[in-house]
Amino acid sequence: MVGPHKPFPISIQNDALKRQRGKCGSCGSPIFSVGTSGASAHKFGEGAEGHHVIPHQMGGPLTLENCVVLCKSCHYSVHRGGHWKYTEQYNFVKGLPMAQRVAAVAKLYPHYR
Ligand SMILES: [Zn+2]
Ligand SMILES: [Zn+2]
Repeated sequence: MVGPHKPFPISIQNDALKRQRGKCGSCGSPIFSVGTSGASAHKFGEGAEGHHVIPHQMGGPLTLENCVVLCKSCHYSVHRGGHWKYTEQYNFVKGLPMAQRVAAVAKLYPHYR
């Protein structure tokens, strides 16, 4: 696990991966399982991780809707190269109810569903 993430339960990550039809939510690379067990199957040889659509520190819940499975490269870049504290990219959904915030940001991931 990279960075100060509160991890999703593995069952939620697996359900999210099913919803994404086994692809990285961002780049579409095939992901066969979450965590390090999927590492050898990934084209970059890295594990996939459940990412918060709305970050935990902004109140994003540990729900299936708020979980998008990303390959490690995409996960790193969505956190702007590991700058985990920067959250301005979510400013456009501030003020919306949480469910709408999650839905609006989830739309930005081409392989979220
Ligand atoms: Zn990816
Ligand atoms: Zn993340």
